[in-house]
Amino acid sequence: MPSRLARSACVALLLAAPALANSGRAPGSHDRPEHPSAPATAHAGSAPHWSYSGEGGPDSWGALADEFKTCKLGRMQSPIDLGGADIEGRISVRANYRPGQMSILNNGHTVQVNFPEGSILSSGISHYKLVQVHFHTPSEETVYGVPYPMVAHFVHTDHAGNLAVLGVLFEEGAHNPELDKIIKAAPRQQAAAHVVGGVTLDPARLLPASLAVWRYDGSLTTPPCSEGVRWHVAIQPVTASAAQIAVLHAIVGDNARPIQPRNGRLLVAGVN
Ligand SMILES: [Zn+2]
Repeated sequence: MPSRLARSACVALLLAAPALANSGRAPGSHDRPEHPSAPATAHAGSAPHWSYSGEGGPDSWGALADEFKTCKLGRMQSPIDLGGADIEGRISVRANYRPGQMSILNNGHTVQVNFPEGSILSSGISHYKLVQVHFHTPSEETVYGVPYPMVAHFVHTDHAGNLAVLGVLFEEGAHNPELDKIIKAAPRQQAAAHVVGGVTLDPARLLPASLAVWRYDGSLTTPPCSEGVRWHVAIQPVTASAAQIAVLHAIVGDNARPIQPRNGRLLVAGVN
C-alpha cells in the first residue's frame, strides 16, 4: 500500500481498491471504491484536510496538495450541468444489482455503503462491479442550473480499475423504504465501516424504473479529482420523503462541489 494512502486523517477511511492503487491514480476520494478490508490507519495532520466551505473549500482544493492539482488544472471535471445535451442517443445501461449485506461508514464528507461482490452495471459493452454508494445534499449535478435536494452516486470499477458512476437524483415525495435502511444505520459522526447485522440492502430498489441516462466523461467530485470517470446520471429521479432528505442532510451537510465547466465535452441524453 503506498504510504501516501495512509497520510491523511481526512482520507484514511477512503482507501482505494488494489486495482486502482495500481492504476497510478492518486488516492483519497469518496467517489472512488473502497476496499472493505483496507486498514483505516491515519496519521492526523500530515496531509491536507479538504472541506466544502472556508479555507479548505472547493476553490482551493487544487492548491492544498500536489496530488490534488487536477482539481484546478483538470479540463474534464465533475459535476456538470446536465441541461442542454448535445445529442440524444440510445445508451444501453443495465444494472444487475443483487441484494446483500450492508457495510456502512461516515468518512466525514458523506455517508457511504460498501457492497459485496455480485452487482454489475453494464454500459454499452463495458461491465463494472458495484463497489459503493454515497450521498450528496443537495445534488452535485444540476439541470439547467437547478439542483435536486439529493443525489446518490453508485461507484463501480472494471477489471482494469476504470471507474463508472451512476447518479440517481432524489426529489421530495414518497417515503423510500430501501433508503431508510441506510438512514437508520448511518453513523452520525465520522466512523469506519461496519457491517450492519440483520439487514439486507437491495441496491436495485434505489434505482428509478428507467435507466435512460445522461452520459459524459468526467472526474471524481472530491480531491484528488482524478479524471477518466465514466459518468451516467439517470434522467428519471426517485423519491425520498422530506424527513429522510433532512436526516441525511443533517448528517453530511452541504457536500456538493460547484458545477464545473464542460469545456466542449460531449453530453448525451439517453433514450433507453
Ligand atoms: Zn459523489
